[in-house]
Amino acid sequence: MGEDRGDGERPADRQQHRDGLAGLVRPASADRQRQDAEQVREDGPPPSTGRPLTRRAHGIQGRRGWHGPRRRIHAGTPPRRPLRSTPRESPLRILTALLLATVLLVPAPTTSAAAPDHPQLDPDRPAVVEKRVIGRSVRGRPIRAWRLGDGSGPTVLLISTMHGDEPHTRRILQSLRDGRPIRGIDLWVLPTYNPDGLVRHTRKNARGVDLNRNFPWRWADLDGPYESGPRPRSEPETRAVIRFLRDVRPRWILSFHQPLHAVDTDTKDRRFSRRVARALDLPRRALTCGGVCHGTMTGWYNHRFRGAALTVEYGARPPRRRMEKTAPRQVLSIWGATRHR
Ligand SMILES: [Zn+2]
Repeated sequence: MGEDRGDGERPADRQQHRDGLAGLVRPASADRQRQDAEQVREDGPPPSTGRPLTRRAHGIQGRRGWHGPRRRIHAGTPPRRPLRSTPRESPLRILTALLLATVLLVPAPTTSAAAPDHPQLDPDRPAVVEKRVIGRSVRGRPIRAWRLGDGSGPTVLLISTMHGDEPHTRRILQSLRDGRPIRGIDLWVLPTYNPDGLVRHTRKNARGVDLNRNFPWRWADLDGPYESGPRPRSEPETRAVIRFLRDVRPRWILSFHQPLHAVDTDTKDRRFSRRVARALDLPRRALTCGGVCHGTMTGWYNHRFRGAALTVEYGARPPRRRMEKTAPRQVLSIWGATRHR
Protein backbone atom coordinates (compact mmCIF):
# COMPACT_ATOMS: atom_id res chain seq x y z
CA MET A 1 0.00 0.00 0.00
CA GLY A 2 2.76 2.35 0.88
CA GLU A 3 5.45 2.12 -1.71
CA ASP A 4 3.50 3.23 -4.72
CA ARG A 5 1.86 6.07 -2.95
CA GLY A 6 5.09 7.62 -1.84
CA ASP A 7 6.33 8.80 -5.15
CA GLY A 8 3.46 7.68 -7.27
CA GLU A 9 0.78 9.89 -5.88
CA ARG A 10 1.02 13.28 -7.33
CA PRO A 11 -1.35 16.19 -7.53
CA ALA A 12 -4.19 15.23 -9.76
CA ASP A 13 -3.80 18.27 -11.92
CA ARG A 14 -0.23 17.49 -12.75
CA GLN A 15 0.07 16.24 -16.27
CA GLN A 16 2.84 13.80 -15.45
CA HIS A 17 1.09 10.51 -15.22
CA ARG A 18 2.14 7.23 -16.33
CA ASP A 19 -0.16 4.64 -17.47
CA GLY A 20 -1.15 4.43 -13.94
CA LEU A 21 1.29 6.90 -12.59
CA ALA A 22 -1.31 9.35 -11.51
CA GLY A 23 -5.03 9.74 -11.71
CA LEU A 24 -5.27 12.36 -14.35
CA VAL A 25 -8.33 14.49 -14.00
CA ARG A 26 -9.09 15.90 -17.36
CA PRO A 27 -11.65 18.66 -17.81
CA ALA A 28 -14.76 18.01 -19.79
CA SER A 29 -14.06 17.99 -23.49
CA ALA A 30 -16.15 18.62 -26.51
CA ASP A 31 -15.36 15.12 -27.68
CA ARG A 32 -17.47 13.52 -25.05
CA GLN A 33 -20.75 13.41 -26.84
CA ARG A 34 -19.03 11.99 -29.86
CA GLN A 35 -17.26 9.42 -27.72
CA ASP A 36 -20.52 8.40 -26.17
CA ALA A 37 -22.10 8.08 -29.57
CA GLU A 38 -19.22 5.93 -30.73
CA GLN A 39 -19.49 3.80 -27.65
CA VAL A 40 -23.12 3.22 -28.46
CA ARG A 41 -22.08 2.24 -31.95
CA GLU A 42 -19.55 -0.20 -30.61
CA ASP A 43 -22.19 -1.65 -28.39
CA GLY A 44 -24.61 -1.81 -31.27
CA PRO A 45 -24.38 -4.90 -33.41
CA PRO A 46 -24.86 -8.25 -31.73
CA PRO A 47 -21.83 -10.49 -31.54
CA SER A 48 -21.35 -13.18 -34.09
CA THR A 49 -20.73 -16.70 -33.02
CA GLY A 50 -19.05 -17.53 -36.29
CA ARG A 51 -15.30 -18.08 -36.21
CA PRO A 52 -14.14 -18.01 -39.77
CA LEU A 53 -10.52 -18.43 -38.84
CA THR A 54 -9.54 -21.23 -36.58
CA ARG A 55 -7.98 -19.89 -33.48
CA ARG A 56 -4.26 -19.47 -33.79
CA ALA A 57 -4.39 -21.32 -37.04
CA HIS A 58 -1.15 -19.79 -38.14
CA GLY A 59 1.19 -21.44 -35.74
CA ILE A 60 2.78 -18.17 -34.80
CA GLN A 61 3.94 -19.29 -31.41
CA GLY A 62 6.93 -21.47 -31.73
CA ARG A 63 7.48 -21.09 -35.40
CA ARG A 64 10.38 -18.90 -34.63
CA GLY A 65 11.65 -17.75 -31.30
CA TRP A 66 10.49 -14.34 -30.37
CA HIS A 67 14.08 -13.38 -30.72
CA GLY A 68 13.76 -15.00 -34.10
CA PRO A 69 14.85 -12.17 -36.38
CA ARG A 70 18.09 -11.84 -34.44
CA ARG A 71 20.17 -12.53 -37.50
CA ARG A 72 18.77 -9.40 -39.04
CA ILE A 73 20.07 -7.28 -36.23
CA HIS A 74 23.47 -5.69 -36.35
CA ALA A 75 25.04 -4.25 -33.30
CA GLY A 76 24.13 -0.63 -32.99
CA THR A 77 21.96 -0.66 -36.08
CA PRO A 78 18.25 -0.81 -35.43
CA PRO A 79 16.34 -3.28 -37.59
CA ARG A 80 14.77 -1.80 -40.67
CA ARG A 81 12.69 -4.68 -41.77
CA PRO A 82 9.30 -5.26 -40.18
CA LEU A 83 8.83 -7.62 -37.29
CA ARG A 84 7.46 -10.76 -38.78
CA SER A 85 7.24 -14.31 -37.69
CA THR A 86 6.60 -15.84 -41.08
CA PRO A 87 8.65 -15.57 -44.24
CA ARG A 88 7.30 -13.24 -46.86
CA GLU A 89 7.30 -15.78 -49.64
CA SER A 90 5.86 -18.78 -47.92
CA PRO A 91 4.40 -21.46 -50.18
CA LEU A 92 0.97 -20.54 -48.88
CA ARG A 93 1.38 -16.96 -49.97
CA ILE A 94 2.60 -17.97 -53.40
CA LEU A 95 -0.27 -20.41 -53.75
CA THR A 96 -2.71 -17.75 -52.66
CA ALA A 97 -1.29 -15.33 -55.20
CA LEU A 98 -1.59 -17.92 -57.97
CA LEU A 99 -5.15 -18.73 -57.00
CA LEU A 100 -6.01 -15.06 -56.90
CA ALA A 101 -4.45 -14.52 -60.31
CA THR A 102 -6.47 -17.45 -61.66
CA VAL A 103 -9.66 -16.05 -60.24
CA LEU A 104 -8.95 -12.68 -61.75
CA LEU A 105 -8.44 -14.21 -65.20
CA VAL A 106 -11.84 -15.87 -65.12
CA PRO A 107 -14.71 -13.55 -66.00
CA ALA A 108 -16.61 -12.93 -62.81
CA PRO A 109 -18.79 -9.90 -63.26
CA THR A 110 -19.93 -9.61 -59.68
CA THR A 111 -16.62 -10.24 -57.95
CA SER A 112 -14.55 -7.33 -56.75
CA ALA A 113 -10.84 -7.60 -57.38
CA ALA A 114 -10.25 -6.14 -53.94
CA ALA A 115 -12.30 -8.79 -52.19
CA PRO A 116 -10.40 -10.30 -49.27
CA ASP A 117 -9.70 -14.00 -49.22
CA HIS A 118 -11.94 -14.58 -46.24
CA PRO A 119 -15.67 -14.35 -45.73
CA GLN A 120 -16.90 -11.00 -44.58
CA LEU A 121 -18.66 -10.84 -41.27
CA ASP A 122 -19.80 -7.31 -41.60
CA PRO A 123 -20.36 -5.58 -44.94
CA ASP A 124 -19.65 -2.24 -43.31
CA ARG A 125 -16.33 -3.45 -41.91
CA PRO A 126 -14.58 -5.49 -44.57
CA ALA A 127 -11.42 -5.74 -42.49
CA VAL A 128 -13.15 -7.75 -39.76
CA VAL A 129 -12.78 -11.52 -39.91
CA GLU A 130 -13.98 -12.33 -36.40
CA LYS A 131 -15.59 -10.52 -33.53
CA ARG A 132 -16.09 -11.47 -29.95
CA VAL A 133 -17.59 -10.21 -26.74
CA ILE A 134 -14.80 -11.20 -24.39
CA GLY A 135 -16.72 -10.29 -21.25
CA ARG A 136 -18.75 -7.58 -19.60
CA SER A 137 -18.00 -4.63 -17.41
CA VAL A 138 -19.25 -4.07 -13.88
CA ARG A 139 -22.29 -2.33 -15.37
CA GLY A 140 -22.85 -5.09 -17.88
CA ARG A 141 -21.46 -3.33 -20.93
CA PRO A 142 -19.88 -5.68 -23.49
CA ILE A 143 -16.12 -5.62 -23.95
CA ARG A 144 -15.54 -6.28 -27.61
CA ALA A 145 -12.59 -7.46 -29.64
CA TRP A 146 -12.30 -7.59 -33.40
CA ARG A 147 -9.96 -9.74 -35.42
CA LEU A 148 -8.53 -8.24 -38.59
CA GLY A 149 -6.02 -9.27 -41.20
CA ASP A 150 -5.47 -12.31 -43.34
CA GLY A 151 -3.67 -14.22 -40.63
CA SER A 152 -0.47 -14.49 -42.62
CA GLY A 153 1.72 -12.72 -40.06
CA PRO A 154 2.29 -12.57 -36.33
CA THR A 155 -0.56 -12.45 -33.84
CA VAL A 156 -0.76 -8.90 -32.52
CA LEU A 157 -3.16 -7.30 -30.06
CA LEU A 158 -3.83 -3.59 -29.68
CA ILE A 159 -5.63 -2.46 -26.51
CA SER A 160 -6.94 0.99 -25.70
CA THR A 161 -8.99 2.85 -23.12
CA MET A 162 -8.05 0.73 -20.17
CA HIS A 163 -8.45 4.06 -18.42
CA GLY A 164 -11.73 5.73 -19.29
CA ASP A 165 -10.29 9.22 -19.28
CA GLU A 166 -7.78 8.32 -22.00
CA PRO A 167 -10.14 7.95 -24.94
CA HIS A 168 -8.26 9.26 -27.95
CA THR A 169 -6.09 6.31 -28.92
CA ARG A 170 -9.21 4.24 -29.51
CA ARG A 171 -9.43 6.00 -32.84
CA ILE A 172 -6.31 4.21 -34.04
CA LEU A 173 -7.91 0.86 -33.39
CA GLN A 174 -11.30 1.89 -34.73
CA SER A 175 -9.74 3.21 -37.89
CA LEU A 176 -8.02 -0.12 -38.49
CA ARG A 177 -11.22 -1.99 -37.74
CA ASP A 178 -13.42 0.19 -39.94
CA GLY A 179 -11.04 0.58 -42.88
CA ARG A 180 -10.02 -1.55 -45.78
CA PRO A 181 -9.02 -5.21 -45.38
CA ILE A 182 -5.58 -5.78 -43.91
CA ARG A 183 -2.99 -8.30 -44.92
CA GLY A 184 0.26 -9.57 -43.51
CA ILE A 185 -0.83 -9.82 -39.91
CA ASP A 186 -3.20 -11.61 -37.52
CA LEU A 187 -4.43 -8.51 -35.73
CA TRP A 188 -6.81 -8.17 -32.80
CA VAL A 189 -8.08 -4.78 -31.67
CA LEU A 190 -9.77 -4.13 -28.35
CA PRO A 191 -10.64 -0.43 -28.49
CA THR A 192 -12.55 -0.07 -25.23
CA TYR A 193 -11.24 -2.12 -22.36
CA ASN A 194 -13.04 -0.01 -19.74
CA PRO A 195 -16.44 0.91 -21.19
CA ASP A 196 -17.88 2.03 -17.84
CA GLY A 197 -14.94 4.35 -17.27
CA LEU A 198 -15.28 5.74 -20.78
CA VAL A 199 -18.93 6.63 -20.23
CA ARG A 200 -18.15 8.12 -16.82
CA HIS A 201 -14.95 9.81 -18.03
CA THR A 202 -13.03 8.24 -15.18
CA ARG A 203 -9.72 6.48 -15.08
CA LYS A 204 -11.15 3.65 -13.01
CA ASN A 205 -13.99 1.24 -13.59
CA ALA A 206 -17.46 1.61 -12.12
CA ARG A 207 -16.29 0.19 -8.79
CA GLY A 208 -13.45 2.67 -8.54
CA VAL A 209 -10.69 0.20 -9.35
CA ASP A 210 -7.72 1.03 -11.56
CA LEU A 211 -7.79 -1.92 -13.94
CA ASN A 212 -4.08 -1.53 -14.54
CA ARG A 213 -3.37 -2.38 -10.91
CA ASN A 214 -5.70 -5.36 -10.71
CA PHE A 215 -3.63 -8.04 -12.47
CA PRO A 216 -2.16 -10.96 -10.54
CA TRP A 217 1.47 -10.04 -10.98
CA ARG A 218 3.12 -8.11 -8.17
CA TRP A 219 -0.33 -7.11 -7.06
CA ALA A 220 -0.34 -4.86 -3.99
CA ASP A 221 -3.17 -3.41 -1.94
CA LEU A 222 -3.06 0.13 -3.27
CA ASP A 223 -5.43 2.94 -2.43
CA GLY A 224 -6.16 6.34 -3.86
CA PRO A 225 -5.59 7.02 -7.55
CA TYR A 226 -4.28 3.48 -8.08
CA GLU A 227 -6.93 1.65 -6.12
CA SER A 228 -6.06 -1.93 -6.94
CA GLY A 229 -9.27 -3.61 -5.80
CA PRO A 230 -9.81 -6.01 -2.91
CA ARG A 231 -7.69 -8.71 -4.52
CA PRO A 232 -6.01 -9.57 -7.82
CA ARG A 233 -8.43 -10.03 -10.73
CA SER A 234 -11.32 -8.89 -8.59
CA GLU A 235 -12.84 -6.96 -11.50
CA PRO A 236 -14.85 -8.53 -14.32
CA GLU A 237 -12.96 -6.45 -16.89
CA THR A 238 -9.64 -7.87 -15.67
CA ARG A 239 -10.94 -11.43 -15.75
CA ALA A 240 -12.29 -10.95 -19.27
CA VAL A 241 -8.96 -9.71 -20.58
CA ILE A 242 -7.03 -12.46 -18.78
CA ARG A 243 -9.25 -15.09 -20.38
CA PHE A 244 -8.87 -13.47 -23.76
CA LEU A 245 -5.08 -13.19 -23.55
CA ARG A 246 -4.73 -16.78 -22.39
CA ASP A 247 -6.78 -17.84 -25.37
CA VAL A 248 -5.24 -15.70 -28.10
CA ARG A 249 -1.70 -15.42 -26.67
CA PRO A 250 -0.51 -12.58 -28.87
CA ARG A 251 3.10 -12.48 -29.81
CA TRP A 252 3.04 -8.72 -29.49
CA ILE A 253 0.78 -6.42 -27.48
CA LEU A 254 0.60 -2.65 -27.62
CA SER A 255 -1.31 -1.11 -24.72
CA PHE A 256 -2.24 2.46 -25.61
CA HIS A 257 -2.53 5.16 -22.96
CA GLN A 258 -2.31 8.91 -22.52
CA PRO A 259 -0.86 11.50 -21.91
CA LEU A 260 2.85 10.86 -21.38
CA HIS A 261 3.85 10.95 -25.05
CA ALA A 262 6.41 8.16 -24.90
CA VAL A 263 6.99 4.50 -25.61
CA ASP A 264 8.02 2.54 -22.57
CA THR A 265 11.48 1.03 -22.46
CA ASP A 266 10.38 -1.53 -19.92
CA THR A 267 9.61 -4.62 -21.93
CA LYS A 268 11.18 -7.96 -22.63
CA ASP A 269 12.51 -6.90 -26.00
CA ARG A 270 14.22 -3.57 -26.23
CA ARG A 271 14.41 -3.84 -29.99
CA PHE A 272 10.64 -4.04 -30.01
CA SER A 273 10.45 -0.85 -27.98
CA ARG A 274 12.85 0.92 -30.32
CA ARG A 275 11.03 -0.20 -33.40
CA VAL A 276 7.64 0.87 -32.06
CA ALA A 277 8.95 4.27 -30.98
CA ARG A 278 10.52 4.86 -34.37
CA ALA A 279 7.46 3.72 -36.29
CA LEU A 280 5.04 5.80 -34.22
CA ASP A 281 7.37 8.80 -34.05
CA LEU A 282 7.33 8.87 -30.27
CA PRO A 283 10.25 9.23 -27.84
CA ARG A 284 11.31 6.37 -25.61
CA ARG A 285 11.25 6.67 -21.87
CA ALA A 286 11.17 4.40 -18.86
CA LEU A 287 7.62 4.57 -17.51
CA THR A 288 8.33 3.22 -14.10
CA CYS A 289 5.11 3.76 -12.12
CA GLY A 290 7.24 5.85 -9.79
CA GLY A 291 9.13 2.78 -8.68
CA VAL A 292 7.64 -0.69 -8.96
CA CYS A 293 4.65 -1.37 -11.19
CA HIS A 294 2.10 -3.39 -9.25
CA GLY A 295 -0.60 -5.42 -10.90
CA THR A 296 -0.22 -4.03 -14.41
CA MET A 297 -1.43 -5.86 -17.48
CA THR A 298 1.84 -5.54 -19.37
CA GLY A 299 3.84 -6.72 -16.35
CA TRP A 300 1.59 -9.73 -15.93
CA TYR A 301 1.70 -10.65 -19.60
CA ASN A 302 5.44 -10.19 -19.95
CA HIS A 303 6.00 -12.38 -16.92
CA ARG A 304 3.58 -15.16 -17.75
CA PHE A 305 3.76 -15.46 -21.51
CA ARG A 306 6.29 -15.71 -24.24
CA GLY A 307 5.04 -12.67 -26.11
CA ALA A 308 6.00 -9.09 -25.37
CA ALA A 309 3.60 -6.40 -24.15
CA LEU A 310 4.53 -2.75 -24.39
CA THR A 311 2.96 0.48 -23.13
CA VAL A 312 2.55 3.28 -25.66
CA GLU A 313 1.52 6.72 -24.45
CA TYR A 314 0.30 9.49 -26.69
CA GLY A 315 -0.15 13.07 -25.53
CA ALA A 316 -3.21 14.51 -23.84
CA ARG A 317 -4.75 15.72 -27.06
CA PRO A 318 -3.24 13.99 -30.05
CA PRO A 319 -4.50 15.42 -33.35
CA ARG A 320 -7.45 13.57 -34.73
CA ARG A 321 -5.76 13.09 -38.07
CA ARG A 322 -2.81 11.45 -36.37
CA MET A 323 -5.10 9.02 -34.56
CA GLU A 324 -7.24 8.17 -37.57
CA LYS A 325 -4.82 8.34 -40.48
CA THR A 326 -1.16 8.45 -39.56
CA ALA A 327 -0.93 6.18 -36.54
CA PRO A 328 -2.93 3.27 -38.01
CA ARG A 329 -0.58 3.14 -40.98
CA GLN A 330 2.43 3.44 -38.70
CA VAL A 331 1.18 0.64 -36.46
CA LEU A 332 0.80 -1.72 -39.41
CA SER A 333 4.29 -0.81 -40.60
CA ILE A 334 5.79 -2.22 -37.40
CA TRP A 335 4.98 -5.70 -38.70
CA GLY A 336 5.10 -4.96 -42.40
CA ALA A 337 1.32 -5.29 -42.70
CA THR A 338 -0.66 -3.28 -45.23
CA ARG A 339 -4.19 -2.44 -46.16
CA HIS A 340 -5.73 -3.55 -49.41
CA ARG A 341 -5.85 -0.77 -51.90
ZN1 LIG B 1 -3.57 4.90 -18.80
